This record gives sequence, C-alpha cells and structure tokens, in this order.
Amino acid sequence: MRKKLVAGNWKMHGSLAENAALLAALKPALSGIEAVVCVPFPYLAQAQAELAGSSIAWGAQNVSEQAKGAFTGEVSASMLLDFGCTYVIVGHSERRSLYGESDALVASKYVAAQAAGLTPILCVGESLAERESGVTEAVVARQLDAVINAAGVASLAKAVVAYEPVWAIGTGKTASPEQAQAVHAFIRGKIAALDAGVADQLVIQYGGSVKAANAAELMVQPDIDGGLIGGASLVADEFIAICRAA
Ligand code: PGA
Repeated sequence: MRKKLVAGNWKMHGSLAENAALLAALKPALSGIEAVVCVPFPYLAQAQAELAGSSIAWGAQNVSEQAKGAFTGEVSASMLLDFGCTYVIVGHSERRSLYGESDALVASKYVAAQAAGLTPILCVGESLAERESGVTEAVVARQLDAVINAAGVASLAKAVVAYEPVWAIGTGKTASPEQAQAVHAFIRGKIAALDAGVADQLVIQYGGSVKAANAAELMVQPDIDGGLIGGASLVADEFIAICRAA
C-alpha cells in the first residue's frame, strides 16, 4: 500500500498573524495525519516553531539550483534544511510559466534539493492548449524525462510527483477523476517501464482546484495518492477535510 500525502501550497499568501491562526487550527485537527505545508520563505521559522513535534511537515515552494554564492535573491537547499524543511516544491507551473523555469533548470533544482536531503515535490502538467492539441502525455513525459535523465529513475524513490494540469490551477476547473486518473496511470506506467518497484511506491499527487467537495472522488482513484492544494490550503476547514478524505 502506498501512503497518501496531502500538501498545501500557500503560494504568496499569509502573514504572521494569519499563519498563526491557520496552523493553530490545523495542528490538533490533523494530529496523527501526515500532511505538509509549503509556506513562503520568510515564514519557515514560524512553521518550524509552530509545527515541530506535530504530524505536519513543512517545506518551501522553490529552491535555488546553486549551493551558495553570489546569487542575489536566491535561497539554497541547505538554508531550507536549517529551518527544518522536509519538502520543497520544484517546477510548479507558475515558476515555469511566470519565471521562465525550463525543464533543465527544474531538474537542477530537483537534484540540489535531493543532494541536501530534501524531498522534492516535482510538479508536471500540461496547459489548456497542450491538452486540446492532444499532447498531454508528451508534455508530462518530457518534464519527467528531464529529471530522470539528470538524476536517474531511482531518485524518484525519494521524491513526490504532483500532476497539476495548468488549466485546473486556481481556475475552479478540476480535472475529472477519470481525466486525472488517466494521466496518473500514464506517469506510473512510464516510470514502471524503467523501475517497477519505484513506480509502485511513488506518491503521485493531483493538484488543481482540489477542495473539500471534490477531494474524495479524486483520492479514491487507484493512482492518485494525495493532493497538492493551493487556494483551499489557506482555509483550515477545507484543508483539514481534504487531508481526512485522503
Ligand atoms: P489550486 O492550486 O488548488 O489553487 O488550484 C494548486 C497548485 O497550484 O498547487
């Protein structure tokens, strides 16, 4: 049995006061349930102070591919480790599209994260135009191959993959459970062709407008092992319900 894992991606939201209220609500409600919150960099210390000893892990939403040096504005994997992070999101579609992160750069970030002992949550997914032109699988395969070529398929034993169709992110348009399952099965099958054991254990999250109301029907799909949750991770009751559904 693979584990299920739900991660919150807070994006650029929150404040010390808002986070304190949110984490105070999550902690008791998720006691004993493994979950993750990926918070903005400045709030990592707050997450560490509030969540240490709880069943909720924390992480960041981006990381530099560089270890250290003259890289103004960047944050290294070892810095994330200093604040007790376990996870870091790499290759989120907002990073790819708004900040020009290429498949190669995402792969470098994945390698840097793992080298420091962090578990990367590798995001893959197609745009609406790509889905409509029938290249969903080709796009997802290309994004995965960049990482497999850089780090090897065995590296996926220490990673999480998040399938996030770009057209479903923040739009209120969720992929149907069947649409999501089809791509999840494709991802698992592609990896199984290289290493069946790794594929069998790999946690593949679904992301894109997941909320309490649609979580259960997604999580019940055989190849959906949890979720990467944006907007709904900022609302305590929603996030709690999604974690419980998984
Ligand atoms: P959403 O975002 O849940 O707000 O659609 C998901 C994500 O971007 O990780």
